[in-house]
Amino acid sequence: MAGIETLFTNAKLADGSLKDIGVAGGRIVSIEAAGATSGAAGQVDIAGALLVPGFVEGHIHLDTSFYGDKWIPHKPCANGFDVHERVAFQAENMAIAAPMEERARKQLELCVANGSLQMRSHVTVDGSVGLRSLETILKIREEYRDIIDIQLVAFPQNGILKSPGTPELLDEAIGLGADLVGGLDPASFDRDLNGHLDVVFGVAEKRGVGVDIHLHDFGSLGAFTVEEICARTLALGMQGRMAISHAYGLGDLDADSARRIGAKIATAGVSIMTNAPGDHVFPPVALLRAEGVNVFAGSDNIRDSWWPYGDGDMLGRAMMIGYRSGFYTDEELSAAFDVVTAASAKALGLEGYGIAVGAKADFVALAAEHVPEAVVAVPKPRRVFKAGRLVAENGAMIR
Ligand SMILES: [Zn+2]
Repeated sequence: MAGIETLFTNAKLADGSLKDIGVAGGRIVSIEAAGATSGAAGQVDIAGALLVPGFVEGHIHLDTSFYGDKWIPHKPCANGFDVHERVAFQAENMAIAAPMEERARKQLELCVANGSLQMRSHVTVDGSVGLRSLETILKIREEYRDIIDIQLVAFPQNGILKSPGTPELLDEAIGLGADLVGGLDPASFDRDLNGHLDVVFGVAEKRGVGVDIHLHDFGSLGAFTVEEICARTLALGMQGRMAISHAYGLGDLDADSARRIGAKIATAGVSIMTNAPGDHVFPPVALLRAEGVNVFAGSDNIRDSWWPYGDGDMLGRAMMIGYRSGFYTDEELSAAFDVVTAASAKALGLEGYGIAVGAKADFVALAAEHVPEAVVAVPKPRRVFKAGRLVAENGAMIR
């Protein structure tokens, strides 16, 4: 076919069919039965591997990971998980860590090597670091712009009301290039739910940007905060541009309450991010999806002051979500895969996502028979293509 720059041959799609995929100008321009297309300028043989859209890393912290730096042992909290205490440990650790540019590059390359081609990273913006971290990560984003698309959330790690100057800094951060405004445990951290949300939604409304709030609160406080966020989202017409990360409180509700609040979340068009954390309750993925809630995923912390785990592999994250959710059937395993691909793309508002004519030619070739097998086996041999160009193979990014 005329106009095809690269033809990706013998690609197995999620439905089991074997296809040739034509790419031009970084987009998919044709999907035909294997062997049916000719006349392409160049060819790449996918050799029957499973071809899936590039993974979406929906929640990460590019500024605070130690990945690629020296090993910094984890310090436990004195008396159970405490956000204030962890934030204080993080400040101590950042003071002795390698330069942020180096750490952020290593973490990005880890993610790309594993097949993530879109990302949302939170970056600390508050009275403690001002805009310095954001300025650094903005430079790194520019450096990698042909390899991975990155959205940045201005994240008030030290609270908004408790960290002087933060409301103004969040606003300036958006002016500087951050894409969304963040928040942190409005009630338990700042101890002023409405005061905190007034600032977050105020900046979002003024700047016309989306919101992604960290919410670690358990129990009824967590659930109540979710309801308040949903009410404000509806009032401002922000459906589809709002996310709550973690929302642990949804994980310790009885099923009827979870369904009731799930219906509200779906109506408000609020996406819920989970990383299926090891020792916490976490949102009931299947129940929420059944209520129409868009549940997406991210690695969150990778070898940082919060925990030593994390490998930047969103396929592995799908496995963890499925494992912790008790997903066994092919339908359930495919749902776990959807969480790290299409659902995350929806949460991030990505244009041109998926294996379809007209979509961006961002895809990953995996050594798996089909999606359910990929989720349980997490095969590591992968070839990663951004805009039709090979950007990673054999576990390493290619420049
Ligand atoms: Zn986070």
